[in-house]
Amino acid sequence: MIVAAVLLAYAVLLCTLAPRLLRSAGWAERAPRLGIVVWQVLGASALTAAVLAGSALTVPTVRVSADLAELLQACVMALTAQYASPGGAAAGAAGAVLALAVPGRVAWCAGAALLRIRRERREHREVLDMVGRPDPRRGVVVLDHDEPAAYCLPGRHRRTVITIGALRSLDDDQLAAVLAHERAHQAERHDAVLAWAQTLARAFPRVSLFRTAEAEIARLVEMRADDVAAALTGRLTTAAALLTVAGGRTPAVALAAGGSTAARRVRRLIEPHHPLSRAGIAAGSLTAAVVLALPLLVVGGPAAAATQLNYCPEGTPAAQITTMR
Ligand SMILES: [Zn+2]
Repeated sequence: MIVAAVLLAYAVLLCTLAPRLLRSAGWAERAPRLGIVVWQVLGASALTAAVLAGSALTVPTVRVSADLAELLQACVMALTAQYASPGGAAAGAAGAVLALAVPGRVAWCAGAALLRIRRERREHREVLDMVGRPDPRRGVVVLDHDEPAAYCLPGRHRRTVITIGALRSLDDDQLAAVLAHERAHQAERHDAVLAWAQTLARAFPRVSLFRTAEAEIARLVEMRADDVAAALTGRLTTAAALLTVAGGRTPAVALAAGGSTAARRVRRLIEPHHPLSRAGIAAGSLTAAVVLALPLLVVGGPAAAATQLNYCPEGTPAAQITTMR
């Protein structure tokens, strides 16, 4: 019971306090890739903690033994002790609901999102194949539209799309920046990162962590793509290119160079750049690894300690049964 309570408290803290702390820290804009990973880790850790808490409420932990008969005896006695009282049975039922509902809800929403995204991409690709003009030299599809816009349609049959208006408005370096931005989205599979964040936000719309993570990850993948483009063409060139295509309308299923965060991103590119130091990135990566492993450590610690105990000594099996949750 203690393990389940600790895991639930940990999940609640992650879902409520962590988004505020991480947003107010402000370092993620200096290391967008690490920021994306940390937001993903927070979500994964909260989900893992919730599922493990439910499992700990449902199934008492018993010592793992190589002796099958002894193991089965310990399991049966622990389960009997757990479900003998109404309180224990209720906690077990609640735990089972939690342990099954969380992954079930995620799987349902992920499946629905996958089908929707595949359908929307296929429909948009078919339109592009009808109205777009392939430009093999630049590796893009050109749309005959005066408004400057650029975006990529990710996936297996990916397309990088640019309008005639953008080709007329951008100089060679700015065009290189826009194309580098779009290729960074494709190379780092930002579409999959965003789809997962959107899935969790839709699966648990009342949970602040997932809502905030969706918005922050959407912002950070754009900053990460900006940084890749800036490394190739320079920050001011990338800012100028971004300003040119910022107002362009793009389909929801695509990853655009502009978008609603463009103003903040242009300011970030123009202001003096102070990327996070290697030590800062190492510390952030280590912290993320600890946060990811923490729910498993909470469960694994008592379970490891349990292996040092003998639950079913000869003659007094019942007296040694200990439940660890
Ligand atoms: Zn973009």
